[in-house]
Amino acid sequence: DRHPEPQFEPDPTKKTLVILGTGWGSVALLKKLDTENYNVVVVSPRNYFLFTPLLPSCTTGTIEHRSIMEPVRTILRHKKAAVKFYEAEASSIDPDRKVVKIVDNSEIQGATSETEIPYDMLVIGVGAENATFGIPGVRENSCFLKEIGDAQQIRKKIMDCVETAAFKGQTSDEIDRLMHMVVVGGGPTGVEFAGELQDFFEEDIKKLVPEISPRFKVTLIEALPNVLPSFSKQLIDYTENTLREEKIDIKTKTMVKRVTNTTVEAEVSRPDGGKERVVIPYGLLVWATGNAVRPIIKDLITKIPAQKDSRRGLAVNEYLVVQGTRDIWAIGDCAVAGYAPTAQVASQEGNFLGRLFNNMAKTEKHESRIQELSSKMNLQAGNSAEAAQEIESLEKQLRRIKDIKPFRYSHQGSLAYIGSEKAVADVSWWNGNLATGGRMTYLFWRSAYLSMCFSSESYPFL
Ligand code: FAD
Ligand code: NAD
Repeated sequence: DRHPEPQFEPDPTKKTLVILGTGWGSVALLKKLDTENYNVVVVSPRNYFLFTPLLPSCTTGTIEHRSIMEPVRTILRHKKAAVKFYEAEASSIDPDRKVVKIVDNSEIQGATSETEIPYDMLVIGVGAENATFGIPGVRENSCFLKEIGDAQQIRKKIMDCVETAAFKGQTSDEIDRLMHMVVVGGGPTGVEFAGELQDFFEEDIKKLVPEISPRFKVTLIEALPNVLPSFSKQLIDYTENTLREEKIDIKTKTMVKRVTNTTVEAEVSRPDGGKERVVIPYGLLVWATGNAVRPIIKDLITKIPAQKDSRRGLAVNEYLVVQGTRDIWAIGDCAVAGYAPTAQVASQEGNFLGRLFNNMAKTEKHESRIQELSSKMNLQAGNSAEAAQEIESLEKQLRRIKDIKPFRYSHQGSLAYIGSEKAVADVSWWNGNLATGGRMTYLFWRSAYLSMCFSSESYPFL
């Protein structure tokens, strides 16, 4: 569309609000924020928003990657006042000098690639990175599933494994290894990806390489006794049974300890309490063992004495202010507010901050108008009735605006796709409390997500 981009002119009378990241938290904030009230600067190495719930479907081509990316500049173009965007990574934050150091680490570099941005208010929404727990060989040999590039890499590797397995004279052991897709981590990411792989097998591999397709195998490895630990027992059973029907080999109580370029080495806890070491050859390895804290957050934690006990991210108060600071807020996966690291939480937090900042700006405007009117009243006692009336009305509005309640997360339910056009849902608003699984749930899952993809507003639930 041809909406002209407003030009960014920092206004010295306004505060500078710097927002780090363009993920679920920061984009929800940007969508809600009245940008006329601040000089808004956004810094992120990613110049698009990524709709992560549909990322697993991109790995096999069920969904085209462009349909789950929303360019940041398109979002910003629709704001009332211009917002400055820098495609860069924040490398460190100095809370004393109130500056953020940013670095352009992209492929194309100009003469300048590093600078400092001063802020009056800072929102950190940088998300988390992939956890590897320092397990040897993971970084070098596995694919992750967090960014669009990861999904593209997985897609390419699956086909490469299949084509290499089909190569003339390939040995039988190598065909089995190359056709073995191993997923480590039985959280929602691992389960959804395993489901997508199985669909890919049914819909594509069987037709593309019928001669070797029976050798295609998916294994899901989980350290705990069951997959999807955050879902209810009923849905865990339903998921595990469905995955087994889909012929996905689920290896629970199996903790991966080492990875080489062709094998995964794991420790299996036996029912008698003993441990057994197993070596599993693989063609494709996808590592989905959850989140770890980003270096910039670890670094900031060391600079704020009140954060000395923070391990999983920045501890925030009920208004999402980083504990031990006055002008830094944190949202999403990099913040510890007592909720799970999900898109649903991050977007509600971003939305809350948007409302909070809009209110703060209104408060300041009202307070300065009251001050202006009061000094006028003191100077010209004759016209004071009208001014007194306006002050009264402004004070009434102020009381209402200032009465902003702390952030409270409202859980709308969890949904996960488990393959074969089946999904599981733990939802509380749908006919009371409902734990459901099956094809109807899948149709609901698909229509909910597709409608969210095409919605320019914030997403109601995930
Ligand atoms: P992110 O969305 O990760 O965004 C972080 C942003 O910060 C990115 O733009 C990144 O480029 C940027 N950034 C990183 N480092 C820096 C830096 N140094 N400086 C500046 N910017 C930086 N949750 C659900 O609720 N429902 C789901 O169905 C669901 N499905 C998922 C499927 C997958 C495959 C994955 C990986 C996650 C899924 N999640 C889901 C979890 C959800 O995506 C995260 O909880 C959510 O993205 C967190 O939002 P965020 O804003 O904190 O971080
Ligand atoms: P997760 O933390 O939920 O699960 C990771 C799993 O890996 C855990 O069950 C853990 O026991 C296992 N694990 C860790 N180390 C291991 C090892 N060495 N060997 C074997 N198993 C190991 O991670 P996730 O699935 O990436 O999810 C991250 C966040 O994103 C969660 O909050 C999740 O709810 C959210 N998410 C939600 C959805 C959805 O709602 N559909 C989809 C994806 C992600």
